[in-house]
Amino acid sequence: MTLAAWVARAGRARPGSPAVGLGGETVLTYGALADRVARLAGGLRDRLGLAAGERVALAMANVPAYAEVLFGIWHAGLSAVPMNAKLHQSEFRHILEDSGARVCLATEGLAATVAEAGADGLDHVIAAGSADYEALVAGAPRDLEIVAPDALAWLFYTSGTTGRPKGAMLTHRNLTAMTLNYFADFDRIGPGDTILHAAPLSHGSGLWMLPHVAAGAVNVMPESGGFDADEIYSLIARWPRVSMFAAPTMVRRLTVHPGGGDTANLKLVTYGGGPMYVEDAVAALDRFGPRLAQLYGQGESPMTITHLSPEDHAARDHPSWRDRLASVGVADSVVQVRVVDGDGRPLGPGEKGEVAVFGDTVMAGYWRNAEATARTLRDGWLLTGDVGHLDEDGYLTLTDRSKDVIISGGTNIYPREVEEVLLAAPGVAEVSVIGRPHADWGEIVVAYVVAEPGATPHEGMLDRLCLERMARFKRPKRYRFVDALPKNNYGKVLKTALREMEAAREDSPAAAP
Ligand code: ATP
Repeated sequence: MTLAAWVARAGRARPGSPAVGLGGETVLTYGALADRVARLAGGLRDRLGLAAGERVALAMANVPAYAEVLFGIWHAGLSAVPMNAKLHQSEFRHILEDSGARVCLATEGLAATVAEAGADGLDHVIAAGSADYEALVAGAPRDLEIVAPDALAWLFYTSGTTGRPKGAMLTHRNLTAMTLNYFADFDRIGPGDTILHAAPLSHGSGLWMLPHVAAGAVNVMPESGGFDADEIYSLIARWPRVSMFAAPTMVRRLTVHPGGGDTANLKLVTYGGGPMYVEDAVAALDRFGPRLAQLYGQGESPMTITHLSPEDHAARDHPSWRDRLASVGVADSVVQVRVVDGDGRPLGPGEKGEVAVFGDTVMAGYWRNAEATARTLRDGWLLTGDVGHLDEDGYLTLTDRSKDVIISGGTNIYPREVEEVLLAAPGVAEVSVIGRPHADWGEIVVAYVVAEPGATPHEGMLDRLCLERMARFKRPKRYRFVDALPKNNYGKVLKTALREMEAAREDSPAAAP
């Protein structure tokens, strides 16, 4: 098995078909991509002397060379370690040292940052497009290296919202299953389809490169290298049958964007990676119609746990429409999903517990971390750390990350429920709810609120809304109005940072829940 076979095959079957675009232009056909991939593989193995199975790190923004680097690594029988281009130097160092990569391929602006990170064991940092890089690609093409299905393909460092990033080991089998699942549950794409990579390629967007390469579709990089709503709309108008992966915040920004224009070519936006609030989903539906699908996945089961289909989005007349929009949908085709209690026993509909997943997309384990692996994988079931419940029809609703659940007076409070209520308040742009340790109650609820520009939502109004919509004990006991919430590079709120900010405050909350 090897994921790189897809490029080799498309290179033979459709050499003239566009494979990679930049802005409005095609920059590589499948024929050219297959050729460069095989040559880069030769450069990595023969010139740099890497041995089969070695890890090669990527510190690359969303650039056309990404596709040839990723598939070149696989063609050579090596493993890829994609790193988010926006990481801090110390985070690069952690991943480089943890993975043991001797070679890092970078984009021009990042090569110096990575080299200065001073990671032990790193011998070469080579910028794509540089003379050194072109020398790697100039040699003889190498034959495709077939590897075992369980060989490491992608060492996926989690985004670190719950601690230091850990390397989830994703194998060729895992990523093949993920790709087949895309065709089964999202879209039967083919040549003539386009994927627009506006989200980081080191994460979801890069993973979606796989089904699109397997199907012979074109991968388009925005010229801005990232997310710019004006540019996205112009690229949607330029390319045929466009899909994209977007974080919920990107969907929101596209929805409220005053420009826009022609979206006739837009085929599907798959969104996920964090909670989508119902009001935002409804607004996106009003803007784009049911060309939306939600996915719930995590690094440990990439892009694949559950999905909410375009049909579910469209079913406005269904009595459970809003509940389903608030859910993450039903189990994906290639996995089994359960909600389990603390002993791993499956729970029934409506009962809250930890979400567990079984199937071919579930990672092989954490890289060099047997302890974390043993905590997370039990008899092949992946314990996700997410809390949720299933309904009678198999729709899963996530209530929170298990680490974020607030226990006040012995009762569980799910921050997400409180956030949903507060987000509906006029003038509120963003909310994050956390627990603050409290001597009598264990924890009390604290809400961090970002106001919309020009608005000044006040505590009394928010408290009244909470009293109207939920049980008294769930109301926040403190409101903190802030200019922005701490977020990581993927736009996810860092609740650990909020808890630290809260702990550093002087005032002691005395109010009883
Ligand atoms: P770390 O594991 O290092 O803390 P992380 O949780 O951000 O980082 P990722 O694999 O990047 O790790 O993100 C996966 C998590 O994102 C899921 O476990 C879940 O909590 C959340 N998530 C993913 N998709 C959705 C979704 N559609 N709705 C709500 N939450 C989601």
